[in-house]
Amino acid sequence: MTKHMLAASSFWEKNAFLRQRDLIIVGGGIVGMTAALAFKRSFSNRSVLILDRHPIPLGASTRNAGFACLGSPTEVLSNISSAGIDQARRVLSLRRSGLRRLLDLVPQQIMDYVHTGGYEVFRAEDHHAYQQCVSNLPMLNALYERGGHLPLYQDLSTQVPPGLKNFKYCIAAPHEGMLHPGKMIAHLQRRCVEAGIDILHFGLKDYQEHASGVDLTLDSVELTCAHLLLATNGFTHALTDQAEVVPARNVVLVSTATQSQLKGTFHYHQGYYYFRNIGSRILVGGARHLHRERESSDQFLLPPDLLAHLETFANQHFVLQRPFEVEHRWSGIMGIGPSLCPEVKKLGPRIHAAVGLGGMGIAIGSELGHQAASKIGELI
Ligand SMILES: Cc1cc2nc3c(=O)[nH]c(=O)nc-3n(C[C@H](O)[C@H](O)[C@H](O)COP(=O)(O)OP(=O)(O)OC[C@H]3O[C@@H](n4cnc5c(N)ncnc54)[C@H](O)[C@@H]3O)c2cc1C
Repeated sequence: MTKHMLAASSFWEKNAFLRQRDLIIVGGGIVGMTAALAFKRSFSNRSVLILDRHPIPLGASTRNAGFACLGSPTEVLSNISSAGIDQARRVLSLRRSGLRRLLDLVPQQIMDYVHTGGYEVFRAEDHHAYQQCVSNLPMLNALYERGGHLPLYQDLSTQVPPGLKNFKYCIAAPHEGMLHPGKMIAHLQRRCVEAGIDILHFGLKDYQEHASGVDLTLDSVELTCAHLLLATNGFTHALTDQAEVVPARNVVLVSTATQSQLKGTFHYHQGYYYFRNIGSRILVGGARHLHRERESSDQFLLPPDLLAHLETFANQHFVLQRPFEVEHRWSGIMGIGPSLCPEVKKLGPRIHAAVGLGGMGIAIGSELGHQAASKIGELI
């Protein structure tokens, strides 16, 4: 902390930057920013401040794989068996409306959105899982009836797309696309500024609700607002245990430019492994299920065993002219909530949380942001 940060706030600072706001949103990822934009659209004369402890939001929104996806067949079947068919259908519908909202907010060319189509791939030893998906395709496709002329999934049998090896079967997910999460978030930030939404970089330490508002204790200053929204996803547990969100770290590797023919978004093993092309590079990530407990962490570490595992996975499954050469590696933190469907939770008369998006935040984030803004709007 600098000397300046420790100095007592001036009258001018208190009057401008630190003035009371109608709504303060903590967390400047996809959920926080889309909630701010939706709220400001309905209440243009109300003041909104986004607080994030980092100038580039540091959680999941700029560290994910950029799949604009509805989920793979094994993932949806697993959702059905763990949460029931209604919840699985609801998640699909949230993902669909969230993607629509995102595409309305950020022009496709600005976030490099490409409707590539996606795939779930299976190895020979996954024969049983593949067969189970194929026999359930009519039921799965019926979950997504309003998808237009394209079904949710199409069996491609043994027609595995080029650029892959050691996979035997494939199911296509024709609605999927890919995007550039960094450009997406940068555009949302610009839109927030244009809409008159303030953004400040402080960490929230604590908050106290009272009859007329909420007092916030930040790193070095204090603030007050009429309503508080926590959009802190995988870090929420440090502020409250009411939201019941557990952090989950995910590791990603990106190769140097390759001659690979891989094109599109790919899922393997209920989405625990995911890979895609970024131009001629390949991104591969996941495998947190191998160390589930250890990876339930909000620390941005890069466990060497997971990095090595993903590199081996890449060499075993991608057709490459030379071994997979890692150029970028990072981790991101997502938040896993108590139920499959993330919901806006009321933590107090003036406090809400929109958290727990799991690995679906690109798809669902804008919908959850919109729902949070509507709920707070009902109290205005
Ligand atoms: C590696 C990885 C790959 C993924 N791939 C995909 C994908 O391909 N498709 C998909 O749909 N989803 C994917 N996800 C999930 C998706 O990225 C997240 O669900 C989504 O970004 C969550 O957005 P958010 O706004 O809720 O949280 P975040 O983006 O994590 O934002 C939370 C923000 O809160 C701030 N914050 C936290 N605590 C405080 C505090 N006390 N004070 C101030 N600020 C605070 C943080 O700095 C952070 O910027 C992936 C996630 C990861 C980690």
